[in-house]
Amino acid sequence: MCSGQQHQHEHKHEQILCPQCDLVVGVPQLIQGTKATCPRCHTMLIARWRQPFRQPVAIAISALFMLLMACQFTFVSMEVAGIANNITLLQIPRVMFSENYIELGAFFLLFVQIVPAFCMFAIILLCTPINLPRKLQIWLSRILFQLKSWCMAEIFLAGILVSFVKLMAYGDIGLGLSFLPYVLFCLLQIRAFQCLDRHTLWEKLEPRPEHPPIESGKTGLKQGVRLCRSCTAILPVDQYECSRCEVKGHARKPKSLQWTVSLLITSLVLYIPANLLPIMVTESLGNSLYSTIMAGVILLWEDGSYPVAMVIFIASIMVPSLKMIAIGWLCWDAHRIKGKRDPARMHFLYEVVEYVGRWSMIDVFVIAVLASLVRMGRLMSIYPDFGVVLFALVVVLTMFSAMMFDPRLTWDKCNTEDDNPMIKEPKGD
Ligand SMILES: [Zn+2]
Ligand SMILES: [Zn+2]
Repeated sequence: MCSGQQHQHEHKHEQILCPQCDLVVGVPQLIQGTKATCPRCHTMLIARWRQPFRQPVAIAISALFMLLMACQFTFVSMEVAGIANNITLLQIPRVMFSENYIELGAFFLLFVQIVPAFCMFAIILLCTPINLPRKLQIWLSRILFQLKSWCMAEIFLAGILVSFVKLMAYGDIGLGLSFLPYVLFCLLQIRAFQCLDRHTLWEKLEPRPEHPPIESGKTGLKQGVRLCRSCTAILPVDQYECSRCEVKGHARKPKSLQWTVSLLITSLVLYIPANLLPIMVTESLGNSLYSTIMAGVILLWEDGSYPVAMVIFIASIMVPSLKMIAIGWLCWDAHRIKGKRDPARMHFLYEVVEYVGRWSMIDVFVIAVLASLVRMGRLMSIYPDFGVVLFALVVVLTMFSAMMFDPRLTWDKCNTEDDNPMIKEPKGD
């Protein structure tokens, strides 16, 4: 080996293929506590935490403990004209199930309790030196990161705060013993995900398979390699199954645009009745008041709760409609051949859509809380109505639609080298 090669070997960069823009990035050996981002699309590629496994385990265990505490005692209480009603966290889905709102109860149970708790369990199992069967380990790490967007505990928390403001006009609201543990659970589960690096976790399970020699600063597609979306390995473009995680894949998601557009159209079709049909019924002294999403916003506004009216308006009306327009625009931009391209701006739009989409669930959770808390018999009772199920479906479908979109399509038609002179190998030492 000549000295030049040796020198190159000493300063060997680990090459990472950016999952969002397909750029091969040479990342120098990171010192603990630092992270590397893609120079083209600024996606976080790898983070070296000081205690890459001990910290997520400690946080996940505390999170589970907090969730257990949160399920034990009264969560919130309400008192109207001397009649008091206390609910626990588990009573919310139970009320839904017992009154034939199974879909709503299932949404709640799944996104607010089961999925977050399962993810915390998975983190503990994967990061401690327990000898699990290899197949189970691989399966757990494959689905752990897929489930991340479906953990909606913090959105439920925001929903509770909104319901309080809605209810303050009618009676006294009290926070139960379980409320604080639940807030801590929300914060801890977010933190557990934050300090777990996908790259490092897979490296622990099994070393990365060797990949053909490639050059940093060029796209993977041009050099005949593709990314394994599950375990971040770099694979030859014609290798269908990943040798590390056994996930099958292609250079680009097959029929990505077709899937995205068809899911988008389905959600658009459901969005119309979701807005026209009532989402909840308020029964008070023999009168039934049916309210749609928009009617709820107007009512809050007229009551003078301007900030909450704005939150609901933004989360339930503006975000879903703007999200649908944005997804449509992304597909159109990825599909067209001619015209000026601005991939950085389109990528920003994609990131916003990905981040903001799940927050539309807020109104669904508000109704779940209202319907289980406001049970005062003839005095005042609130029931969910069919519109809210449709609305929840719209949110889920637009989330799927955004997931089916392959962000690399935005970057594919622009030339890496002459598009941006900044993109060279990042400075090593
Ligand atoms: Zn990138
Ligand atoms: Zn893989």
